[in-house]
Amino acid sequence: MVTTRFAPSPTGYLHIGNLRTALFNFLIARQAGGEFILRIDDTDPERSKLEYVDGIKRDLDWLGLDWDRVEHQSARLERYAEVADQLRGKGLFYECFETPVELDLKRKKQLNMGKPPVYDRSALALSDVERQALSSESSGHWRFLLARSRIEWTDGILGNLSIDAASVSDPVLIRGDGQVLYTLASICDDIDMGVTHVVRGSDHVTNTATQIQMICAIGGTLPSFSHHSLLTGPKGEGLSKRLGSLALRDMRDAGIQPMALLSHLARLGSSDPVELRGSMEEIIAGFDLNKFGSAPTKFDDSDLIPITAKYLQGLDYVDVSQDVAAIGVPVDIAEDFWNVTRTNISTLKDLGGWWELIKNGATPEIDFEDKEFIAQAILMLPEVPFDTTTWGTWTAEVKLATGRKGKGLFMPLRRALTGMSHGPDMGALLPLLQKIPRKF
Ligand code: GLU
Repeated sequence: MVTTRFAPSPTGYLHIGNLRTALFNFLIARQAGGEFILRIDDTDPERSKLEYVDGIKRDLDWLGLDWDRVEHQSARLERYAEVADQLRGKGLFYECFETPVELDLKRKKQLNMGKPPVYDRSALALSDVERQALSSESSGHWRFLLARSRIEWTDGILGNLSIDAASVSDPVLIRGDGQVLYTLASICDDIDMGVTHVVRGSDHVTNTATQIQMICAIGGTLPSFSHHSLLTGPKGEGLSKRLGSLALRDMRDAGIQPMALLSHLARLGSSDPVELRGSMEEIIAGFDLNKFGSAPTKFDDSDLIPITAKYLQGLDYVDVSQDVAAIGVPVDIAEDFWNVTRTNISTLKDLGGWWELIKNGATPEIDFEDKEFIAQAILMLPEVPFDTTTWGTWTAEVKLATGRKGKGLFMPLRRALTGMSHGPDMGALLPLLQKIPRKF
């Protein structure tokens, strides 16, 4: 069975970059009728917060990315200790005592000498006496001993990859304070949970190389690995600093629609055109990981507005009746209200502005030279109730009486009644207006 996982660390809210990973893994699992696991990578007790776990679930819920089961790494610490012992038993796990400052100094020296900043394994050269002396002072951190060979795999997006393990530091799997780090926890989980496909950002390529060796060392089955490109801003600038402001919860608050966001992200960076999809089923059916390229993918959050608008235009009243009711539109005009406004909104938040106009009227916009014309026209406006023919009959009479036609006739009337030069069809809008001006 195809099994994928989305593995966020609950140290912040989900942002657009996380969504890309979550969505790809979700789509692969759903397409194959497999399993999608939400794995909470919470081995860091200080930075992991329940508030973020809740936030992550809420965002995924909002988007309809339902998971089949949830796993918490913090509940699996015993298992990680077991695997650590297994690695120790094989002579592949060794304790190091350098402080962060010493390590930093070593790295700087190597860089100064034009060498790659790879850990020099001096801990392996310690005698038993030296090691005992050091460990009586403080407990050390533990590294996995990489075999210095080339690590090769066929990446689902990047193709054939080959990384020389000698160019990579032996990864630290357990910190001096005993905290299990992501790499160890992640490979244990991927093996134990039967993960078959790992899709994550290309910032994890080097991790994958070391994880392949570790998985093999403990006799696990290798999943297939794919690394999607990272998102950049519209000009190609790195997004890392802006990601905080591209949080999914902010997009939700801004009125971006899940279907718009998912349609966009399921195609952005692929050779297929980005197009609005009508349902999750369509998104699932139309997804193809093979069509994604390795080049950084430009993301512009302003693109989400037109696609949201397009999605909303296609909705029927039943789909939005609750949103319409929530802003106070009486039920007897609610459907007409939606039909009049839906082509004139970017997000559902814009409905409030239209309701305000319909309920209370607008501040009229009347040019000096139109003053008399408007005064005359408004006197000719028939008594309520209006219907969808009122605008046509009224403006025909005004045309006869004033000799105005075309834009010179319609535009000043629209601006007088709505305070705007554009907006919904006046024939449909006029019967909805709750306050009809009788004099300007
Ligand atoms: N918690 C890791 C991250 O958010 C998971 C990476 C992975 O998918 O293995 O970067």
